[in-house]
Amino acid sequence: MTGEVTREEFGRLPGGEAVELFTLRNAAGVEVRVAGFGGVVVSLRVPDRDGRPGDVVLGYDDLAGYVGDDAYLGALIGRYGNRIARGRFTLDGREYQLPVNNGPNHLHGGPRGFHKAVWRAEPLPSTEGAGVALAYTSPDGEEGYPGTLEVRVTYRLTEASELVVDYAATTDAPTHVNLTQHSYFNLTADPTRSVLEHEVELAADHLTPVDDTLIPTGEIAPVEGTPFDFRRPTPIGERVDAPHPQLAHAGGYDHNLVLRGEAGELKLAARVREPGSGRVLELYTTEPGVQFYSGNFLDGSIVGKGGARYGHRSGFCLEPQHFPDSPNRLAFPSTVLRPGERYASRSVYRFGVE
Ligand code: BGC
Repeated sequence: MTGEVTREEFGRLPGGEAVELFTLRNAAGVEVRVAGFGGVVVSLRVPDRDGRPGDVVLGYDDLAGYVGDDAYLGALIGRYGNRIARGRFTLDGREYQLPVNNGPNHLHGGPRGFHKAVWRAEPLPSTEGAGVALAYTSPDGEEGYPGTLEVRVTYRLTEASELVVDYAATTDAPTHVNLTQHSYFNLTADPTRSVLEHEVELAADHLTPVDDTLIPTGEIAPVEGTPFDFRRPTPIGERVDAPHPQLAHAGGYDHNLVLRGEAGELKLAARVREPGSGRVLELYTTEPGVQFYSGNFLDGSIVGKGGARYGHRSGFCLEPQHFPDSPNRLAFPSTVLRPGERYASRSVYRFGVE
């Protein structure tokens, strides 16, 4: 059997516009639901080692939840994943000021970033597998960024239980682009439990340390001998509260790890195993970095699916991306996109059991 896609109405925005919900399924019992609003992954059901399906992402029961959300649950992030210092950059001699929405800095494309956009959504042609294609035209000047950006993101579920996310973009004027996906995972499928027992392995020998507003200092520091050394599988909880200045800045893990391997090549970035359920998540990406966030800012104030309160560290994020504040760091891999060029990035979330 090849996978299937169904579509239904998810809800209506306050202005009356209808938003669709797409459900992708494969023969292995994996089911992914994606909304046209924010390109959000609403749910992701994967079997545990006994074949019992469970939803492994945080989210809301209805569209209104996503409209009101300020934690980016499940959303596509653009134009720029993570922070840009003071919301400022200079490109080709011109200065740009973006909205400042996170302390003194710009975060995740601004308050009206792609996570709040209504995307044009269609199922992928069946020859391409079970998937949904999302398109969005970001006008010149939106959230302060130059250039009209044409963005296309596809989610595809394979029979090997991989959720393949492809990002593409073109522009009509020089700009910066750094797209990512902001799902919060809890592989126990029980978000009333913390993620501290999840064992994480990261293919990273270095991190980009940050200041106390979470902007990179510019240094590329070895993980060796620090709580950021996940080169062997280690429970998140083992060192998350260790006395380390970098952990103190973020209240836990909220850092960009520099991935081993060539930029542009699809490579293993992370492997996470949840011992109780046996579920395993592997992340592959063409991106040079991954933001590992241990849900430190979750504090029980979000009421999510089924009325669950999302407590401290009840979800973790692995956001494949270019490094934070790259527009102001010429030594980091560039996020500039120019007319005539095509931005392309792929990330694969592969689910299994052990
Ligand atoms: C950031 C966190 C932020 C979270 C959004 C992560 O990508 O690194 O600092 O709080 O997104 O809720």
